[in-house]
Amino acid sequence: MSKNRLNVNRRDLFIAAASVAASGMLDVSVGAVSDYKDFRSDKKAKIVIVGGGYGGITAAKYVKKQNPETSVILIEKNPFFVSCPMSNHYLGDFYEFSNLCFPYNNLTVKYGVEVINDRVQDIDLDKKIVITPNFKISYDFLILSPGISYDVKEEEKPFFIANPPAFKPGGEHLYLKKLIDEFEGGDIVMTVPAYPYRCPPAPYERAAVLLNYIKKRNIKAKLYFIDANERPVINSEGFMNAYYDLYKGYAEYVTGTYVKGIDAEKKVVKTTNGDFKFDLANVIPPMKASRLIEKIGLLESGQRWVEVETFTFESKVKDVYVIGDSARSFLPKSGFGAHMQGKIVANNITEKLTGKKAKDELLMVLCYSMVSDEEAIMSETSFKIDKATGKIIPIHREDNVRRKSTVKRYNEWARGLWRDLFG
Ligand SMILES: Cc1cc2nc3c(=O)[nH]c(=O)nc-3n(C[C@H](O)[C@H](O)[C@H](O)COP(=O)(O)OP(=O)(O)OC[C@H]3O[C@@H](n4cnc5c(N)ncnc54)[C@H](O)[C@@H]3O)c2cc1C
Repeated sequence: MSKNRLNVNRRDLFIAAASVAASGMLDVSVGAVSDYKDFRSDKKAKIVIVGGGYGGITAAKYVKKQNPETSVILIEKNPFFVSCPMSNHYLGDFYEFSNLCFPYNNLTVKYGVEVINDRVQDIDLDKKIVITPNFKISYDFLILSPGISYDVKEEEKPFFIANPPAFKPGGEHLYLKKLIDEFEGGDIVMTVPAYPYRCPPAPYERAAVLLNYIKKRNIKAKLYFIDANERPVINSEGFMNAYYDLYKGYAEYVTGTYVKGIDAEKKVVKTTNGDFKFDLANVIPPMKASRLIEKIGLLESGQRWVEVETFTFESKVKDVYVIGDSARSFLPKSGFGAHMQGKIVANNITEKLTGKKAKDELLMVLCYSMVSDEEAIMSETSFKIDKATGKIIPIHREDNVRRKSTVKRYNEWARGLWRDLFG
């Protein structure tokens, strides 16, 4: 056994199509387009937001709230919102999928944001026009929050449709849950890409809830947990302790190991540390900014994330902002971080429109992780910022003790965030 293939039994180091369109793997064909007349087109400024996820919804709601006289249009390809936060609860079978889903109606009814259910396929940054298969929509300010794309080869895409990573909102979680429900035993292979990727603790939380799932059901199975990183990138102690204490004998944790390829027919994941046969696979591929952003030229060649101004999230193109997981930011790629960025951009646009200086947002990120269906751990990062020098000092704190009370706080945190987005 190579030095970094570690068995959970050892004391020294242990732990260890749904909708094809929703998976974002296939292109949408181009139809005839017409100029879009928004229902407030007589108003003075038009703000278009692409992506109705954590960043986009926040930006839409707050910019409209602060500037009721403007026209705010949110374009989202999915008919309703599905939350990635709390989705591991669903995969672990202790949360209903419906709890993750929210309609966009309240954004229109309560805040006057116009929501268009369509896929943006191109943006003309010179002419300031967003193009969907059905419309051409002009803007004064553009906020892009389209999330991530999976960085996979063309020939691997059928594998990822049949075995969804479930790291994007939409139908992927439903299909992965179906595969988990149908799993009767054998080898599970789960992989973690090198950091940075969307939501640092999410793969480690998912491994824990999967282990909890097979243990509680007495399923004869072993999880091969293959991590490109040397240890859990956050709450390392809490995850390692949980894997060892709760799931000893159920998992083998293979660290510093990258996926080289997948043989879908033979059901084998090929890695830099040998081949792993699977009966159930959850390969989480490397990620990058959304393909749309790459297409419109905002992603520098060879880069994974969009360069933005540190404190305003304005891109290299004036009045075009990139927020959420597509952007390179000091805030970790999280729903909470995207939410904060949405507020910051709303403030910035308000400042441009009114000349009034907005108050600074308190910058912090909270991350909770289930380690079973009953206990959770958490981390908290706040940021000391000196805008004059550009210096950012993160202050990071972790609670790695498994607690039922942390589960309660986790639920309250999610409900509070959703209330802010949809309430
Ligand atoms: C399993 C898991 C657990 C997580 N847990 C947590 C957690 O506990 N706490 C936390 O803070 N974060 C968590 N996250 C991270 C969080 O989900 C993301 O960081 C957050 O969603 C980023 O927001 P965003 O706006 O950048 O992208 P998203 O929320 O993904 O929104 C992007 C939206 O853009 C839409 N879109 C994309 N392209 C187009 C297009 N061309 N046209 C129209 N619409 C488009 C998509 O459909 C999507 O709705 C978790 C993530 C995962 C995968």
